[in-house]
Amino acid sequence: MKPAAFAYAKARSVDDAIRLLGDHKGEAKLLAGGQSLIATLNMRLSHPSLLVDINGVAGLDGISVENGTVEIGAMTRHVTLERSSDIAKHAPLIARAMPHIAHPAIRNRGTIGGSVAYADPAAELPACLVALDAEVDIAGKGGKRTVKAGDFFKGLFETALGMHDVLTAVRFPATGAGTRVGFAELARRHGDYAMVGLAAVAKGSGKSLSDVRLVYFGVGAMPVRVRKAEAALAGGSVDDAIKALDLDPQSDIQATADVKKHLAGVLLRRVAAQLMGDA
Ligand code: FAD
Repeated sequence: MKPAAFAYAKARSVDDAIRLLGDHKGEAKLLAGGQSLIATLNMRLSHPSLLVDINGVAGLDGISVENGTVEIGAMTRHVTLERSSDIAKHAPLIARAMPHIAHPAIRNRGTIGGSVAYADPAAELPACLVALDAEVDIAGKGGKRTVKAGDFFKGLFETALGMHDVLTAVRFPATGAGTRVGFAELARRHGDYAMVGLAAVAKGSGKSLSDVRLVYFGVGAMPVRVRKAEAALAGGSVDDAIKALDLDPQSDIQATADVKKHLAGVLLRRVAAQLMGDA
């Protein structure tokens, strides 16, 4: 199908984008990499009257690592993250997730801001950001604000973004000595959205883990933290963590709830091995 007719404007700045969104009273949408938006337009799941293109807006692109903090601009493409030595060194969880996100052609255009704003429940980056205890920077009509990733995702494709907001950057602690990460997902074909996935961060010393954060994706309306399993894993036993797995997945076109729950346990065993240095 072809999209419904829409107007197009290229924003010159973040403020200009906010103004254009405001002028169109909820009928305008930002265009980042277009890898999700254009598909929804073509399927007529969305029919904005105006696309506000933020490609080329200065200051929205790039990766910085300063004072133990990694900051990634919203328009940073997946391929940039995938190839960045700073991400490999200071954000290995993101580095591990990248090859699972779609295919190279999509990663060449798709952006971290677009992935986070779109908030697909089976997407990798939202779960990684919750696991990393990231912050999300938002600019809107009322000025700038920062929201914790754990509070940013509100429901199915629902976030803390208002209709006139621009997500400008994400920020999280650099992964230093003593911090370990784990990532695993199961998809029907490599590059497909996950049937079930798990992103994890923990402090580790030998086999012992603390401050465990386990965040599943593809199992609910948004990234899901499993705090009972986190506590059990910090106690040291993978089997206890699997027994404690406080996850209530919903069936979807990929798998039934029972299959997802089983796969979640399989992934927990794999990720626990990564966190404990066995894999
Ligand atoms: P766009 O498509 O341009 O925008 C998406 C939405 O976010 C729009 O509503 C837009 O208005 C809004 N938006 C974009 N940027 C901002 C911003 N800065 N502030 C506020 N709102 C904004 N993703 C995965 O995570 N895992 C996968 O396995 C995966 N597989 C895919 C397979 C296919 C075949 C395709 C086509 C896509 C797949 N994707 C997958 C999606 C891909 O990662 C997209 O790049 C991503 O979801 C959206 O990023 P984008 O930059 O293309 O955003």
